[in-house]
Amino acid sequence: MVQVIEWVNPGEDEIIWRYPNEVIKWGAQLIVHEYEVAVFMRDGKIYDVLGPGRHTLTTQNLPLLYKLVGGSNSPFKATVIFVSMKQFQGRYGGETQTRELAPVKYYGVYWFKVADPVLFITEVVGGQSLYDTQDVTKFIRAYFNEGMMKHLSAYSIVDLFQNLDMVSTQVKVKLMEDFRRLGLELVDVKIEGVNTTDEWRQRLFWLMQTGNAQAVMQMDTVKQVAAELGKSPGAGMGTGMVLVPQLFQQPAQPAQPAQPYAGAPPAPQQPPQAAPAQPAAQQEICPYCGKPIPPGARFCPYCGHEIKRCPNGHIVPEGAKFCPVCGAKIE
Ligand SMILES: [Zn+2]
Ligand SMILES: [Zn+2]
Repeated sequence: MVQVIEWVNPGEDEIIWRYPNEVIKWGAQLIVHEYEVAVFMRDGKIYDVLGPGRHTLTTQNLPLLYKLVGGSNSPFKATVIFVSMKQFQGRYGGETQTRELAPVKYYGVYWFKVADPVLFITEVVGGQSLYDTQDVTKFIRAYFNEGMMKHLSAYSIVDLFQNLDMVSTQVKVKLMEDFRRLGLELVDVKIEGVNTTDEWRQRLFWLMQTGNAQAVMQMDTVKQVAAELGKSPGAGMGTGMVLVPQLFQQPAQPAQPAQPYAGAPPAPQQPPQAAPAQPAAQQEICPYCGKPIPPGARFCPYCGHEIKRCPNGHIVPEGAKFCPVCGAKIE
């Protein structure tokens, strides 16, 4: 009976399969389906690679193995690994810290496929001794997550919440390079969500309102910022936005914040006193999820949180005693 080596009915998520019999006979039928590659290994080393088609194993199509087994025509030992060249989807999620050490949770989807089966088997399958799909998939997910954690931590919390598109694009490019090293092509990455703690969400609100990261970071809690604001002279006198940056001026240090990524142009430093009073209606930001919301919204369309407002309609963060814009007391 002729030996048939075939990956029968691979499941949708199966990326590799090892033919269970390691004794191969010359003349065996090797069936490699569309989007598959069969790799012949021995002692962890890759010898011959055969693409889609029906092959009768001869000394011609396995020249390297034939050389190894010493030109004899008797059965020989080899591991046959089938690799799927189809596209796979993986989900990821994890926790990291921003540049300011703000805890951030993130999750999303990524799509990948094997681009270089020899490199993939060398680096992942053989290199890690992972011979089944489950282990390989787990390894890839962990590898992806590790990269995501590392690359995200180079950004500030404001970038993550306000410029997520830019961050996604840049992180994707870096992850693609990481994947290429494993013989994989990272086709696409989608960050579906980022989140942080309540405390950091409130800080984020202040960061976005005032643009002064340093001062906000020096405050223990946002409630303290709000309280400080209430004490400052001029609060409640209708001086508008300018009031806020002036307050934050006091503890200013000359230290320049680190750049989010190499080669980035320096962020324009906004002179606090020159900050024009932005009409509140122009851009409002949800203090809970950081997303821009329609002017005057009572509930955030993204996170569903109720938006607290001062009597004059400005957004105030939870726990604030005074409005950060007009200084009005919050009851
Ligand atoms: Zn929201
Ligand atoms: Zn107000």
